[in-house]
Amino acid sequence: MSAHPITALAPGSTLGVLGGGQLGRMFVHAAQAMGYRTAVLDADPESPAGLVSHHHIRTAYDDPDGLAELARLSDAITTEFENVPASAMAALAGQRPVAPAARCVAVAQDRAQEKAHFVACGVPCAPHAVIETTAHLAAVSADLLPGILKTARLGYDGKGQRRVANAAELAAAWAELGELPCVLEKMLPLALECSVLIARGHDGATVCLPVQRNLHRDGILAVTEVYEGNVPPALASQAQAAAISIANELQYVGVLCVEFFVLQDGRLVVNEIAPRPHNSGHYSQDACDISQFGLQVRTLAGLPLVAPRLHSATVMLNLLGDLWFTQGRSAQEPPWAQVLALPGAHLHLYGKTQAKHGRKMGHLNVTAATPEAARATALQAAALLGIAAF
Ligand code: ATP
Ligand code: MG
Repeated sequence: MSAHPITALAPGSTLGVLGGGQLGRMFVHAAQAMGYRTAVLDADPESPAGLVSHHHIRTAYDDPDGLAELARLSDAITTEFENVPASAMAALAGQRPVAPAARCVAVAQDRAQEKAHFVACGVPCAPHAVIETTAHLAAVSADLLPGILKTARLGYDGKGQRRVANAAELAAAWAELGELPCVLEKMLPLALECSVLIARGHDGATVCLPVQRNLHRDGILAVTEVYEGNVPPALASQAQAAAISIANELQYVGVLCVEFFVLQDGRLVVNEIAPRPHNSGHYSQDACDISQFGLQVRTLAGLPLVAPRLHSATVMLNLLGDLWFTQGRSAQEPPWAQVLALPGAHLHLYGKTQAKHGRKMGHLNVTAATPEAARATALQAAALLGIAAF
């Protein structure tokens, strides 16, 4: 385990981040707003975080010289990308405080380990089986079908998943996924999906953001809604309590997202964790008095955690590259000026030069005094942008 800062790192210190995507970019913005310097490691010269950081080390995640440079420049290091090689985390942890710890990231990287952790915490998850061999495949209980076969590692945005109705489809899907280690989950009847962002300090203190209600389309987060009553209050408390026990059990330090399903019978089931801020927490930038990235800076720098307060009802719309290609036209900029004429519209773009289908280009947070107003304005923005109503 890495040494965590006992005394807080003062502004002016340098906070490092492995990975240069949009989550790293928004971490860098939050760190710089508090007077920290930043260092980003990402091979892409145009990486969203690298473009705005004091230092940008342009090497692969497993390049020993790049990692040594990141450690040399940084007083503490975090990651924004969950598939960072464990060896990279270990190399850094030998030299500088790293949060979250490599072993926490390792649990989140592997669906089989992740499920085992949920079971150990006593938090219900989907009935499942780990499939690593043909014998495991043959032994799958019919109770798990229809189900979803998911690769144990490296899945995101619904990639590496196959829906299977019966044993024959399961066998075909496993072959199609290259007979990689997989987890088969029973297909559950979902009423809604929600998630919780939790921050845990090195002293074990925890704070949660208000529970997010999420809508996915094609396996990708499309809309997040946060306001009083977005999910039944008893479920929201249950989700926050589950997130706290999952984080405590891991002795987690940093920001962690826990995704849940709410079943049609009202039961709460944990889906997965992400060892970093999460797309579903972006609303906090404009609707809370501290954002998930502000919390991430505080956990890394060893600063106090204060419970975030939601001051506005909010709806977040994800801005995927598809919006640049509406009506089959060649790439063209969405009508930002019209969108920004709407009250409470906050545009966040990640500085990616090339729009592609399914690529996360930015998000729009719509804030308002009431849930009705936030939803009405968000629906207007969605109509302008060519996002389907929700
Ligand atoms: P990301 O990491 O981007 O959140 P992912 O690729 O890890 O996505 P999951 O979160 O496992 O994928 O699943 C994507 C979506 O598929 C879920 O948000 C949910 O809508 C649906 N889904 C996944 N597992 C189940 C299940 N067991 N029963 C019903 N629906 C499911
Ligand atoms: Mg997910």
